[in-house]
Amino acid sequence: MDLTSGFELPDIPVQQIKDPLLEERGVSLSVLRADLVHPIISGNKWFKLKHNLIQAREQGYSTLLSFGGAWSNHLHALAEAGRLFDFHTIGLIRGELHSELNACLTDAVNAGMQLEGISRTLYKQKQSANFLLDLKQRFGEFYLIPEGGANLEGVRGCAEIVRCYKEQDYNLLCMACGTGTMLTGVVTSSSIRVLGFQVLKGKNYLEKQVKDNLYQYDLSAQCDWSINEAFHFGAYAKVTDELLNFIARFEEQHNIPLEPVYSGKMLYGIYQLIKKRDFFPQNRSILVIHGGGLQGCRGYI
Ligand SMILES: *Cc1c(COP(=O)(O)O)cnc(C)c1O
Repeated sequence: MDLTSGFELPDIPVQQIKDPLLEERGVSLSVLRADLVHPIISGNKWFKLKHNLIQAREQGYSTLLSFGGAWSNHLHALAEAGRLFDFHTIGLIRGELHSELNACLTDAVNAGMQLEGISRTLYKQKQSANFLLDLKQRFGEFYLIPEGGANLEGVRGCAEIVRCYKEQDYNLLCMACGTGTMLTGVVTSSSIRVLGFQVLKGKNYLEKQVKDNLYQYDLSAQCDWSINEAFHFGAYAKVTDELLNFIARFEEQHNIPLEPVYSGKMLYGIYQLIKKRDFFPQNRSILVIHGGGLQGCRGYI
């Protein structure tokens, strides 16, 4: 498929949440269903890959190489994007590959991705020059996309998300954050306040990461933004029964599938903050970005 038409900005449905709690508190809550952007290249990964693929093609690369864990939404999306747009893809997986691949990696291989497991020690050095030289010797020329699509092209793509809804209808935009790439992009173009929910443990790491991104890429925020660090549930991908129950109830009541790593934690957090009353003044109008990544749910069954 042609890259330009393949990455034309999509129409993304916005779904308003009907809930007695919200009515009672005078809060309006809507979900930007970015999970529906593409059946596999879903959520913010679509936006993060867009300019990476365009740039790789412009620079004449035919191979894309990236990194991720065994349930990486990013690699899952990248594999499919490679298949669709005719790139060879290489996924370097943190830790050893088991002979029986999980559902995520099976999809990636079926989409044509070449997988290699790398030790956790090496994985930590994946930014080093030596490691990159080694990779070039092993795999030849490739366009490198950092883990999670966390680079300037990823940021540029995410800056376009704000064109997918009417900003004037809302006064707060919420999203779940891992690397902070999406939030970095969004704050460079949003005219309404942005609140990110950190899904990894680590005091201030995300705020610092976003500030570093803005500085490094010579970009500036166009809106107020802040990070909520209270709802990571102890660690990345860690869940509790309470979180899983919340997700199950939400899915049933609103017919919106969630996963527990990102959007589930964010929405749980938003509900807690709304229950506390004081955080959201009356009649706040909140839009949350559904980050997609539902394939990852298969890791919890
Ligand atoms: C990758 C991902 C995120 C986090 O995006 P960052 O740009 O890394 O902060 C959020 N939600 C889902 C579903 C994701 O797959």
